[in-house]
Amino acid sequence: MTTGATSGFQIDTVIVGAGVIGVAIARELALDGREVLILDREKRPGQHQSSRNSGVIHAGFYYPDDSLKAKLCHKGKLELYRFAEERRVPHRRVGKIVVATDEAQTGKLEIMHARALACGIDDVQLLSALELRRMEPELAGVAGLWSPSTGVIDASALLDAMEAEATALGAAFSMNSRLLRAEARPDGWTLFVENCGETIRLDCRLLINSAGIEAPHLASCIDGYAAERIPETYLARGNFFSCQGGAPFSHLIYPLPGPIGLGVHLTLDLDGQAKFGPDVELVDQISYDVKPDRAEGFYDAIRAFWPGLKPNTLMPAYSGIRAKIGTPGDPQDWIVETTATHGLFGLVNLFGIETPGMTCSLALARHVAEHLRAEDLL
Ligand SMILES: Cc1cc2nc3c(=O)[nH]c(=O)nc-3n(C[C@H](O)[C@H](O)[C@H](O)COP(=O)(O)OP(=O)(O)OC[C@H]3O[C@@H](n4cnc5c(N)ncnc54)[C@H](O)[C@@H]3O)c2cc1C
Repeated sequence: MTTGATSGFQIDTVIVGAGVIGVAIARELALDGREVLILDREKRPGQHQSSRNSGVIHAGFYYPDDSLKAKLCHKGKLELYRFAEERRVPHRRVGKIVVATDEAQTGKLEIMHARALACGIDDVQLLSALELRRMEPELAGVAGLWSPSTGVIDASALLDAMEAEATALGAAFSMNSRLLRAEARPDGWTLFVENCGETIRLDCRLLINSAGIEAPHLASCIDGYAAERIPETYLARGNFFSCQGGAPFSHLIYPLPGPIGLGVHLTLDLDGQAKFGPDVELVDQISYDVKPDRAEGFYDAIRAFWPGLKPNTLMPAYSGIRAKIGTPGDPQDWIVETTATHGLFGLVNLFGIETPGMTCSLALARHVAEHLRAEDLL
């Protein structure tokens, strides 16, 4: 037992992490009439991955068709567009081109096209060099893959809309509240939460670990959870650079994906302003400083598809950090664990929910709820 803990709170479900995934799950459970409390150690929701991403609504054709990422991305995209339209969250179906910059890459584009069709994404289309040039005259490439339903969304406005809806449905948020550890009870969990220098004791039935890049660490603070179950993860900072003078493109432009990330690409915000990134910088702690010398690698990567990029125009913008499961170069699927997988009553762990997590947020929340329902926990 932790000494000096204030006790006395009892709640049905506690979700740790007020990022887009935790808030989407809170909304889903609140829609089902459940009593939900969301804890986050920060002052405001969405201070980590959920506000430090590219803001892209992905189509989902990068992932093996039997993966959770692929299964949830296609329906997640449709649901996210519907949610954004109904709640007036600013977004735009701007479309995306994946570009092959030499003949050796065209086979990879064809594989990606076939994978998209296998996942039920039937609006993608291969482009010839001529078609590429008609769509984007400044783009250098020998072939392309066109995804008209890829879009961009205001990630902060999305989180605000989900938070407002969850709150209206009765979910409560406790900010500045860091879960220190959880002790198992036969019918749930006793949580020890640090809030403004005090340790508060809280009892719950269901505990959902949606702590983003800190989910593996949090799992190690859960009583009875076998340490060997915690997946190996590594931190990959993604830096973004803005471009002085803008970029002459009207769609999102992606190279072929690399072994760890999607490759330095161009995205447009809702006002059409271009930004480049994210790259992949392996780090061992959470720090969001963007080193200006990372720009060197950006110039090389961008000039492969945009030779017209002028020197000294890239400026450090911001960064985000993903916790990727596995080891660099060996991409792994997300892990969603429930009682049926680890045997501990009422515990859900979400590990490695990086890109395209925002796109999948509503679909992933439903996936979690369906598991809980199937296990008679809802
Ligand atoms: C650089 C980058 C680019 C991306 N681009 C895209 C994109 O274009 N499209 C897309 O769909 N997805 C994208 N993603 C992925 C997407 O942003 C994430 O999948 C999503 O935001 C994950 O949300 P989350 O709620 O799991 O994590 P987070 O937003 O990181 O939230 C986790 C929360 O847990 C809290 N927390 C941690 N430990 C504790 C504790 N002990 N107690 C209390 N609270 C705790 C943290 O404070 C944090 O608020 C990108 C991610 C990154 C990093």
